[in-house]
Amino acid sequence: MDEVIVVGGGVSGLTTAVLLAERGKDVRVWSRDPDRETASGISGGLCWPYRIEPQEKALEWAVRSFRHFAWLSEQPRQTGVRLVRGRLEGAASGTVPPEWLSLIGSPPRTPIADMQAYLPYLRGRLAAAGGRCEERSAASLAEAAAEAPVVVNCTGLGARELAGDSGMRPVRGQLVVVENPGIEEWYLSSEEGAAETTYVLPQPYGLLLGGTADDGAEDTTPDPAVTRAVVERCARVHPGIAGARILDVRVGLRPYRPRVRLEAETLPGGALCVHNYGHGGAGVTVSWGCALEAVRLLDAEGLG
Ligand SMILES: Cc1cc2nc3c(=O)[nH]c(=O)nc-3n(C[C@H](O)[C@H](O)[C@H](O)COP(=O)(O)OP(=O)(O)OC[C@H]3O[C@@H](n4cnc5c(N)ncnc54)[C@H](O)[C@@H]3O)c2cc1C
Repeated sequence: MDEVIVVGGGVSGLTTAVLLAERGKDVRVWSRDPDRETASGISGGLCWPYRIEPQEKALEWAVRSFRHFAWLSEQPRQTGVRLVRGRLEGAASGTVPPEWLSLIGSPPRTPIADMQAYLPYLRGRLAAAGGRCEERSAASLAEAAAEAPVVVNCTGLGARELAGDSGMRPVRGQLVVVENPGIEEWYLSSEEGAAETTYVLPQPYGLLLGGTADDGAEDTTPDPAVTRAVVERCARVHPGIAGARILDVRVGLRPYRPRVRLEAETLPGGALCVHNYGHGGAGVTVSWGCALEAVRLLDAEGLG
């Protein structure tokens, strides 16, 4: 019997599994979907506390994560994480917490993860610590509890069904990947609560342009009008983007909850379950901080 089953193989599940396995736990991760169909696989990978509540906690988790990502960025080819300089607009409106601004410095530098490389890195690190990943869908938390005394629920939007959580809702985002016309810095302009942000993130596979945030929308079909609008907005910042070849258009659903769920409960039958989901638009940004808190919750029960 495994000691821990982590349900969910996105960034939250894999990071929590890595921490547990590196503490010597026998960990198995169940994940239903291929990466490209998860929020984590689609994510821009920018460390930025965006669309996540509660803000004070998110900032605390983000700061912890920032430090680990900065360390990972020292080996970018192995981890897929780089520390990249950027330009920020919108800070003047007071939407960016001052603690975050002082952390990223001036000019700002923040980690960016290439999720196509970073998720495999996490899986490799998990395997090196003795953990395993399986393609497997859980019909209930009880199904996992039948195979392990400790279950960690990192199912993102899947928690609607798995934990019966009606507070979870999707926030749809559409991203465009274009050939990079030579841009090496990120750009971000955002306003609190706005459906449209403008961002440009240099990734190894191309220049990633964003973005949109449609509350409650669930359709993951790319909208060509949105693609045009995103390219136009970004081309106003960097005119070279206007003629850049489009390589890919991606749509993902941010797993939003009015409050991230990080808590322990005892399941019927006695297994312990720690929930770690609902990270909205910042699941990568807070991943290490939240995973650490999930492990502390297990510690408090004498199981971490
Ligand atoms: C367009 C877009 C851009 C984004 N950009 C950023 C960014 O720049 N920076 C940032 O920090 N965040 C960003 N985000 C948000 C970030 O992607 C999410 O917060 C994060 O990926 C959530 O990770 P997760 O592991 O909790 O959930 P997910 O990545 O959704 O993973 C959930 C996992 O649970 C599994 N699962 C679900 N139900 C079951 C079940 N019943 N049985 C088994 N497995 C199950 C799924 O298969 C999957 O493996 C962005 C999101 C989108 C959509």
